[in-house]
Amino acid sequence: MKRLFFLAAFCSLLSASAQQPQAGIASMKKFIDGLMRKMTLDEKIGQLNLPGSGDIVTGQARNTDIAKKIREGKVGGLFNIKSVEKIKEVQRIAVEESRLKIPLIFGMDVIHGYESVFPIPLALSASWDMQLIENSARIAAIEASADGINWTFSPMVDICRDPRWGRIAEGSGEDPFLGSEISKAMVKGYQGNDLKKDNTIMACAKHFALYGAAEAGRDYNTVDMSRQRMFNDYLPPFKAASDAGAGSFMASFNEIDGIPATGNKWLLTDVLRKTWGFKGFVVTDYTGINEMVDHGVGDLQTASAMALNAGIDMDMVGEGILTTIKKSLPEGKITLAKIEEACRRILEAKYKLGLFEDPYRYCNEARAKSEVFNDAHRKAARETATQTFVLLKNKNNLLPLKKSGTIALVGPLANNKHNMPGTWSVAARFDEAISVLQGMKELAGSKVNILYAKGSNLDADSAFEERAGMFGKSFQRDNRTEEQLIQEAVDIALQSDVVVAALGESAEMSGESSSRSTLNIPKTQRNLLKALLKTGKPVVLLLFCGRPLTIKWEYENVPAILNVWFPGSEAGYAIADVLFGDVNPSGKLTTTWPQSVGQIPLYYAHKNTGRPLQGEWFQKFRSNYLDISNEPLFPFGYGLSYTTFSYSDFRLNKTKLKSAEQLTASITVTNTGNKEGKEVVQLYIRDIVGSVTRPVKELKGFQKISLKPGESKTVHFTITPELLKFYNYNLVYDWEPGEFEIMIGPDSKNVKSGKVHWDK
Ligand code: BGC
Repeated sequence: MKRLFFLAAFCSLLSASAQQPQAGIASMKKFIDGLMRKMTLDEKIGQLNLPGSGDIVTGQARNTDIAKKIREGKVGGLFNIKSVEKIKEVQRIAVEESRLKIPLIFGMDVIHGYESVFPIPLALSASWDMQLIENSARIAAIEASADGINWTFSPMVDICRDPRWGRIAEGSGEDPFLGSEISKAMVKGYQGNDLKKDNTIMACAKHFALYGAAEAGRDYNTVDMSRQRMFNDYLPPFKAASDAGAGSFMASFNEIDGIPATGNKWLLTDVLRKTWGFKGFVVTDYTGINEMVDHGVGDLQTASAMALNAGIDMDMVGEGILTTIKKSLPEGKITLAKIEEACRRILEAKYKLGLFEDPYRYCNEARAKSEVFNDAHRKAARETATQTFVLLKNKNNLLPLKKSGTIALVGPLANNKHNMPGTWSVAARFDEAISVLQGMKELAGSKVNILYAKGSNLDADSAFEERAGMFGKSFQRDNRTEEQLIQEAVDIALQSDVVVAALGESAEMSGESSSRSTLNIPKTQRNLLKALLKTGKPVVLLLFCGRPLTIKWEYENVPAILNVWFPGSEAGYAIADVLFGDVNPSGKLTTTWPQSVGQIPLYYAHKNTGRPLQGEWFQKFRSNYLDISNEPLFPFGYGLSYTTFSYSDFRLNKTKLKSAEQLTASITVTNTGNKEGKEVVQLYIRDIVGSVTRPVKELKGFQKISLKPGESKTVHFTITPELLKFYNYNLVYDWEPGEFEIMIGPDSKNVKSGKVHWDK
């Protein structure tokens, strides 16, 4: 009898864990209800635990601490473990050796591609091409899912208006409208239409929220912000991710209204779940709960209960929930219902991914061989990169370069593979990334003679250079003096027709924990640039960066500047494509570039203030500086092309409207140069009078068009009251009747405009 009972119990366990019924919310609920009835409290708590994978070595996972915890049902998922073999090995422990055989979820920071690395997210945003961005996420999902991963910690949708913050590189810039479009495109690219497919992965919108507004741009620093600004400027890309069905959210490290986001119930429950209707699960950031102790909200037990009560479902790395939550139960600090709610959400995610049906769904050696870093994906990464470069200056059409003569290629980033993928490229094959030198040599052909010299170290200070070269991206330090290095570069410059100087930041000068107080090109590199300019040879600055830089001097002195960010694994090829004119650059900035760090935060959608400048700088008792104008070096939306465009015939089909009506704003764009090119046409609106003060303009639409030489196209924007809505003082999202200024142009500064009156 006893044996029979055990047999029956075992069979029912198997049927609950091994077979997942078909999709549908009702069947999911039934399945999870059944499974949860069998789970002990410890097993439920175990699902909320997301340890880092440590360094699991293939074939040895069984003997690790993690394996022990998995067997005991104390692990819900793992992250940043790479390869089908390893993931299979660990998954097998979960589904064969743990009591309930619940599969693990496998996450990773697949931020801008997997092994085929695409440009950094800030660069991707500069393409203003939603299909291209979605496709980059699609390819990342195909590669990651082929290699065992089913959950990515992306998209990072933090709005940032302070380029001192290094993580500006991981986001889509300063604008909530553009940021929301990109947020949707990324979620769609990762998740597709069906999460259960073996080539889609679950997205995670991060870092919820306001992380990009850290005081002084110092990473992890305090954030303090009005609700208006939160809802109008910083939260929209998160809402867009939720509306697009993102399966998960990650809480941010910073505090909001004095409460760490990880423990902020208003944010994680009232806003995210109750107001927006988010149905997925929320994970902390890395040791986010433990860090609440340092924030000063209490000990680990208090912080863990606070986080779970606030709406956290999964605890990344710190094991605060695993180790303390049981104690909080009898003490009344947490309820069983809360634990179960979180556990259910994790199980639901696994169900949606189809893991109960097949825990090895994402572990397919054949796919891993053929679908990761293949030619098609590398080609896509290269083509994508060419669309993200921003031509900042091109005096006398110095660019594109001719495929003949002698080119001097100099600079610490000219012959460097490891920095090309940029920050947060954990799965990259760094040794196979394409350097500028390699790309240019291969593309130029035999008619071009390319001479190379390093010209300078990344920075004169070797300790700084070390800090800026972490994660295997160190620069080979050249121990010659600055003068010797420069002399070598000058010597080859003198033998050449043109100089290309590959300068700027290293990959790790932006990204996490890479805040800077100055945003210039390191001095030793600028010294090199000065010496190169002195030769009298034409110089092209090929600028690498993960953020806006203060390059006023360079802008005033160097004839051509092509900003290439960090282009990804195919960097050198993509750069050569654009330098030699096989591809015409069409990227436009998605952040304002200041003249000086002292102007930060500087963004185009600012308020007018009560004392705006009226006319030229300087004006006493007006909002401006004594020592510098308010102007940026480059405005939001700025970017040149090898051709030129003119804007004419700005038209509004009406100037008086009633609520249900819609307005069409049009403009004709003509390619006035002699090359085919793409142009991002931008629509801005100003709400002139509001119940709360409104920005001087806000992006409300954009279209990227392609024009042949001499060709014209008329671009139409349809404007409905939906586009006029904003969060008012009471946080009601609505529009207000009155006057609006409608503006269209090639960037946020150079616009043509007209006014309309819109009644309710
Ligand atoms: C970062 C996250 C990342 C996580 C896991 C944290 O330090 O803030 O963006 O997803 O680590 O690697």
